[in-house]
Amino acid sequence: MNAYDNALRQLEKAAKLINLDKDVLTRLSSPEKVVMASLPIRMDDGSLQVFQAYRVQYNSARGPYKGGIRFHPQVDLDEVKALAFWMAIKSAVVGIPMGGGKGGVIVDPKSLSEAELEKLSRAWVRAFREVIGPAKDIPAPDVYTTPQIMAWMADEFSKLEGKPSLGVVTGKPLEYGGSLGRGSATAMGGFYVLNQAVEKLGLKINKLKVAIQGFGNAGSIMAQLMHDAGYKVVALADSRAIIYNDKGLDIDKVIAHKEATKSLAGFKGVEEITKEKLFELEVDVLVPAALENQITKENAKDINAKFVVELANGPTTPEADEIMYKNKVIVIPDVLANAGGVTVSYFEWLQNISNNYWTEEEVDKELKERMIPSFEAIWQMAEEKETDLRTASFMVALDRIAQASKVRG
Ligand code: GLU
Repeated sequence: MNAYDNALRQLEKAAKLINLDKDVLTRLSSPEKVVMASLPIRMDDGSLQVFQAYRVQYNSARGPYKGGIRFHPQVDLDEVKALAFWMAIKSAVVGIPMGGGKGGVIVDPKSLSEAELEKLSRAWVRAFREVIGPAKDIPAPDVYTTPQIMAWMADEFSKLEGKPSLGVVTGKPLEYGGSLGRGSATAMGGFYVLNQAVEKLGLKINKLKVAIQGFGNAGSIMAQLMHDAGYKVVALADSRAIIYNDKGLDIDKVIAHKEATKSLAGFKGVEEITKEKLFELEVDVLVPAALENQITKENAKDINAKFVVELANGPTTPEADEIMYKNKVIVIPDVLANAGGVTVSYFEWLQNISNNYWTEEEVDKELKERMIPSFEAIWQMAEEKETDLRTASFMVALDRIAQASKVRG
């Protein structure tokens, strides 16, 4: 299971349905630019370690490249290519004037000290300084990268440029050019589109059961938002444990436990279950909020949820998509469900380049005004073309990318 093969299959499926211009399809079948670097870091114990780093600039038909940087031991070039491609689609889905890019470093950041992490983050910027910039390519957080890391990166870039260049990365801390609402934006966007879908089916939020895989920024905030809105969150998973209680979990207590112990393991009053069981639970909503390739042809048939809300990028393989479509599971795809993050990143960038900062209410209002109409347009497209929401999202996005490519010639 290669994420980039999956991404290309998704592209081809939607391209066929809209009769996508051949030249546009050819261009979208490989990235515009791939940059690789080795980052030598002096570790705290005096030894030298070299980390492999990437930036993939996939497509810039609609604007500067945009997309996060992932620090994870399983990063590889094909994964970064897939993630960069999905960013181009995602920006087009929500209509923000950006292209798609992604970066990564092969590293287990949990094994680094704070000083080592800072060195690595600054080294990344020095290695890629020629290709990034507020008008060129704007990175952001992704798996295991944080606002603090973005602050180091913006600081390093500003030093190299000899002037403040806050718009070079988004997802920064509030004290240094960050936007209100950026931290919760990915979950918030997913929450809005799920609520729309729930309404479409004439269901009531109250007591709908939820399982969430992943308890990082997106998963934990989604758990909180859903719990507060009346959904019943019955299962949560992080990289160390999966906890389940059919009566519902006390999210405030779970978050306090995670903060104190850095893990969900050992939380009292729950059953610890396997990953297989997590995906088979009798829940209404399943939220993959971790990594790629989690829902596959092996487990897709066992999914009982009515909705799958992809806060993770690429959690579902093309085979699994087909099985779930047949089984009438509504998959709200990554390129729509988690697009709130890049949307507020775009707002952050607008605030940086205009040096004019918005209130939390303004950010939230603008986010809603992007997410809900995008959802409606895609829902309608899916109904019209009798297809799934992922294919419909790709159809909308590819059409926008094709139009930009066409006028540019
Ligand atoms: N890493 C996030 C994503 O996959 C956010 C990207 C951004 O804000 O540029 O959508």
